[in-house]
Amino acid sequence: MTPHARVAVQLPELKLDGLIVSALPNIRYLCGFTGSNGLLILSGDSATLFTDPRYTIRAAGESSARVEIVRGSLFAAALKLIAKKRWKRVGFEANRIPYDNYVELEKGLTGKTSLHPVNGLIEHQRMVKTETEIGFIRQSVLTNSAAFDSALKLLKPSMTENELAAELEYQMRLHGAEKAAFETIVAAGPNSALPHAQPSAEVLGSNRLLLIDMGAMQTGYASDMTRMLHLGKPSLKVRKLYKAVLEAQLAGISAVKENATAGAVDRSTRNVLKAHGYDECFVHSTGHGLGLEIHEAPRVGKKDKTVLKAGMVITIEPGAYLEGFGGIRIEDTVLVTTTGCEVLTPTTKELIVA
Ligand code: ZN
Ligand code: ZN
Repeated sequence: MTPHARVAVQLPELKLDGLIVSALPNIRYLCGFTGSNGLLILSGDSATLFTDPRYTIRAAGESSARVEIVRGSLFAAALKLIAKKRWKRVGFEANRIPYDNYVELEKGLTGKTSLHPVNGLIEHQRMVKTETEIGFIRQSVLTNSAAFDSALKLLKPSMTENELAAELEYQMRLHGAEKAAFETIVAAGPNSALPHAQPSAEVLGSNRLLLIDMGAMQTGYASDMTRMLHLGKPSLKVRKLYKAVLEAQLAGISAVKENATAGAVDRSTRNVLKAHGYDECFVHSTGHGLGLEIHEAPRVGKKDKTVLKAGMVITIEPGAYLEGFGGIRIEDTVLVTTTGCEVLTPTTKELIVA
């Protein structure tokens, strides 16, 4: 079934005549259009993409939906179509629409038509990837790891975090990525204790930890990996911390299987860190889904009740962060299978001593 066909099945269940899709990744998922300005109007048997003249050629080449090129407001054009079709109940992506566009819709609807929020309808579908999508993610993961290997060959302790981040992103593109999936994190020493550190002019230096969190975006699909280096010989404290996080990460991978809940996977990593006395140092969730976006459903967190299904792609990335000292996170991208999971990331998980 095509993504559009799967939405079409759900519209009658939601008692909707049509759906306004405003989130660009959802538009891409449903009709293939990759432009930065678009609005997709769906019903069970029709799909119309509205975009502007900059995208005439691209939309004609990419979109499986009928294309209408619009000068001015895409929402005004969509309203005309909705009026023409005489739809009564129209769904919209409440969590994915700018407020002013919502107001424009609400004001522009004729009396008989009402708006109904649908949250996460398309995002929910996107959790289970098709074979084609899995192929793209596999490639993105391989590119990311190849970029990591290439950049590491050029690593020098005199480099700054910024320089290494630039090298990693440059190598991603050389290996085939369109861009980085998110701002590459390179964090040396105590900076690695900040889970979302930003690379700075700090010199990498020696005798300390170095955290690299990077992801490629290739053919529209993201990958995500975190690896740890130690600049110089690691101390006992570092080795102990690393061992605990690796054990937690492996426990997380073992817990991934079809019909397990995302919450259970999260608990599996948390329990290991707790046994080592590091549970207070683990300040984020175990992972997240990824695909057209770097962060997608499901959230692999404590309270997430999502039941994992074969074809979902998630990250497993427990970490432990000691303020003023440094942090350790190990992250792989994994594919849920009927029997467990396949770790897509090929890069070694030994602590890399540089
Ligand atoms: Zn991640
Ligand atoms: Zn990451």
